[in-house]
Amino acid sequence: STNEAEKNAGGAICICVRKRPISRREVNNKDHDAVSCVHPSVVVHDCRLRVDGISKYLNNQQFAFDHAFSENEDTAEIYRCVGGPLVEFVTRDDGRACIFAYGQTGSGKTYTMEGVQARAAVQVFQELSSERSVGVSFFEIYGGRCQDLLRERARLQVREDGRGDVHVVGLAETPVEDAESLLAAISRGNELRTKQKTEVNDASSRSHAVCRISIRDKDGKQRGSLSLVDLAGSERGQDTRSHNRQLRTESAEINKSLLALKECIRGLATNDAHVPFRASKLTMVLRDSFVRPRSRVAMIACVGPSVSCTDHTINTLRYADRVK
Ligand code: ADP
Ligand code: MG
Repeated sequence: STNEAEKNAGGAICICVRKRPISRREVNNKDHDAVSCVHPSVVVHDCRLRVDGISKYLNNQQFAFDHAFSENEDTAEIYRCVGGPLVEFVTRDDGRACIFAYGQTGSGKTYTMEGVQARAAVQVFQELSSERSVGVSFFEIYGGRCQDLLRERARLQVREDGRGDVHVVGLAETPVEDAESLLAAISRGNELRTKQKTEVNDASSRSHAVCRISIRDKDGKQRGSLSLVDLAGSERGQDTRSHNRQLRTESAEINKSLLALKECIRGLATNDAHVPFRASKLTMVLRDSFVRPRSRVAMIACVGPSVSCTDHTINTLRYADRVK
């Protein structure tokens, strides 16, 4: 409801929805727009769907979030609402912040996160105080394995130490002096992902990518950190009946991590002392982002407009709704 959305605004978590414009291909296929976003509401309109060859009727479904961005709003607008405040939190208050892009493959996650990365890289250096330095790391979690995107996918281990801190062992952190070199490092990681997309049957839609900007003090101690996470396609968690064994295993892994993520964000929202971060690799490496009072999380739930993906759109909106 709107009241719930208002209650969370400005708090530890911010949940918003972004609808992308209808594509040329969708128009050519005579698909049409079934979603409207009028802040703070998202409505999936009455429609007739074909599910497993059976036609079924779906009534208007309405949801409300902290922000609802229509196809007319650009990434600059989304960044102003969602990204800017978190970069301030990270640079001024030594905060640990995380922004997730969630949604089905093709809904605009990578488009949105690349725009957020570019703007954050600039703002971090604008806000940075003189005694702090910046480093960047970029890794992905694919089939439960962790790989370094700044070192040709070197295999990484995730370990928890006796004090409960989680370490990604072997992860390279590239020190950067200005926004240009930060952007250059991020682009290298993004290029490696894009390359794989064409080489290996769209593996990038089945991996979570974590781009982390760390703020360090003179002694090299981590102060603030901003993690920008491009999640695996949410529909990939549902391929659990595939004939391909590897796909089935990967799907189960994705499903597990997205469920764990939902629980961890809820834990942060409700100030639960026992956030179940150990339930997946994804939530383990993001552990820092789920601890009050120094953590904040934003989720951008991305949806496509078309009738043909209404099922996935509703799944995404329900997921985002339950996280609040
Ligand atoms: P995902 O990462 O969720 O699979 P992408 O970010 O690759 O989806 O987006 C799918 C396609 O839609 C891309 O061609 C992308 O450029 C385009 N797209 C996504 N969001 C927008 C938007 N807000 N405005 C214009 N084009 C978009
Ligand atoms: Mg993508």
